[in-house]
Amino acid sequence: MENNPNNSPNNNNKNPDGERPKGQMWPALIITLVLVLLFSWVYNGVVSSQYTQTTYSDFLTAMEADQLAEVEVQRERGRILYMTKEEAAKDPSVQKACYTGLPSGDHMELLDRLYAMDVTVNEEIVEDNSMIMMVIYYVLMFSVLFFFMRSLTKRMGGDGMMGGFGKSKAKVYMEKQTGVTFKDVAGQDEAKESLQEIIDFLHNPQKYTAIGAKLPKGALLVGSPGTGKTLLAKAVAGEAAVPFFSISGSDFVEMFVGMGASRVRDLFKEAAKVAPCIIFIDEIDAVGRSRDTRYGGNSEHEQTLNQLLNEIDGFEPTKGIVCLAATNRPEILDKALLRPGRFDRRIIVDRPNLQGRLDTLKVHTRKIKLSEDVDLRKIAQATAGAVGADLANLVNEAALRAVRQGRQMVNQEDLLVSFETVIAGTEKKNTVLTDMEKRLVAYHEVGHALVAALEKHSQPVSKITIVPHTSGALGYTMQMPEEEKFLSTAQELRTELRTLVGGRAAEQIVFGVQTTGASNDIQRATNLARAMVTQYGMSDTLGLMTTASVQSQYLDGQAYMDCSQTTAYEVDQEVKKILDSTYSETKQLLTDNRALLDEISEYLLVKETITGDELMAYVNADKQKLPAPDATTEE
Ligand code: ADP
Ligand code: ZN
Repeated sequence: MENNPNNSPNNNNKNPDGERPKGQMWPALIITLVLVLLFSWVYNGVVSSQYTQTTYSDFLTAMEADQLAEVEVQRERGRILYMTKEEAAKDPSVQKACYTGLPSGDHMELLDRLYAMDVTVNEEIVEDNSMIMMVIYYVLMFSVLFFFMRSLTKRMGGDGMMGGFGKSKAKVYMEKQTGVTFKDVAGQDEAKESLQEIIDFLHNPQKYTAIGAKLPKGALLVGSPGTGKTLLAKAVAGEAAVPFFSISGSDFVEMFVGMGASRVRDLFKEAAKVAPCIIFIDEIDAVGRSRDTRYGGNSEHEQTLNQLLNEIDGFEPTKGIVCLAATNRPEILDKALLRPGRFDRRIIVDRPNLQGRLDTLKVHTRKIKLSEDVDLRKIAQATAGAVGADLANLVNEAALRAVRQGRQMVNQEDLLVSFETVIAGTEKKNTVLTDMEKRLVAYHEVGHALVAALEKHSQPVSKITIVPHTSGALGYTMQMPEEEKFLSTAQELRTELRTLVGGRAAEQIVFGVQTTGASNDIQRATNLARAMVTQYGMSDTLGLMTTASVQSQYLDGQAYMDCSQTTAYEVDQEVKKILDSTYSETKQLLTDNRALLDEISEYLLVKETITGDELMAYVNADKQKLPAPDATTEE
């Protein structure tokens, strides 16, 4: 599941019952309202400022004295605009220089009098629906502005310009009770043990303060995606029966300087209200990235980080806020975050071992009806390297398959098939291969399998198939370790190399061709050989020198060359030497066992999928025949 952290199930809907605040449209609404009001105010102001205000009696006096040059009666607006003869003479460009209120009531008399005089009279033509028009006009203006503002504020980071200033609780999830306990977290005993102290502290802080011990403020959960870091944090909250706040580090990163910092402030303020509680910051590397320029940085990010440090330093340890953070890239975190009194505890959440995987499967199959034939240990054995989230996914897929097939219980087959779905992608039955391609794939896979079967230090083959999978593999050979292994000897690695190039060797020996199908094998073999030379000190020429270092151990484990150019050249030579010798050894091995290779490949072509036992039956039968079968075909 790590291939795409963004759509992994653990990233989506992490807290289905968390509260997500509404009201994302308020800022836009308020801005629009203010704008509309401002507009009409300014507009009226502009109109008014052209005129001098006079009283109605001034107007009457002017009228009596026959001083009016021009009059405009605006009945709807309740005012009269007028200009005296004197002003008209003074400056003809200025029009209607005065205005005055128009008393309500019947104005016919006034109008009659004005018409009778030698005055230009304008009556503002006001149609009956003018009020409606005006309302429509405002509403239209309002809505256009509103939608404009809304789309604008949306683009500016989700919850609007105003939301960020001070009051935003966006994307903070609060759960009063997580309902998750350590029982729901399989394995991870060491992590649990380290967290036990925090739980104890949340239960009764006095015990610690009495001695004068400094209380832990935060802990950093470090591990690959899907290993259960969030789950553990929730379980801590559940065990201590305290509220659980969670936010993702990337939510702090905003477009506007200062917004992330204000979010941090809000978060801690909210948390302080309900303390004791747990604050969980997922993906803390998004904010906690080192401030030096090596990994890039900007002032918003720095402010946010500073605020976070401030808050962590600031809260009273007796209050009972514990800050847990998760990351899979501890090496890029700012050193300041890891200083004593901050996230000084580092809790490693490892990929589960065999027992851990078995326990995880047990946890997730607790509520699932399993039929008698289910052997979870077998599944656990097959899933070396899988993380908790993968296993949870696997179990669910199996249950779905059982339902699809109208069964009441999940059987072993469901689990095995969904294992392939999760690991290798669903079986893709409609990919049509030509006969020749099929033969190539079959020989290729048997090449891998046969090398593994004939070698001493290899992991046993459990399955060979030439049924294409959606992942793009046209076939694959599955090897299953008999027991958990933590160390590999150089011999074993060499065997692994030979197994990897076995596919290509078989193609070469039998068909004399090289196909693109081996690209992944070649890549893996090259990487392994390179690691042997640069990291494991297993090469003759370079000896024990490390020439590459791993930077993000918990992510891709990618190693970067860390040596001079001359040495890098030597490394390449050495890698090539290893691969070359491996390849010729493998070809020799397969040539010596050509009959067996043919036999098994033909069988695979018919059956499409064969088990490790079937393979071994052939190999063992072959060993009975003495002496070794004819190795006629030369390459
Ligand atoms: P992370 O935060 O490390 O990426 P999560 O805690 O979100 O991983 O784990 C995702 C899911 O995987 C969990 O919801 C749980 O179903 C499953 N899971 C992971 N680790 C374990 C475990 N040790 N025991 C049981 N379930 C687990
Ligand atoms: Zn292959």
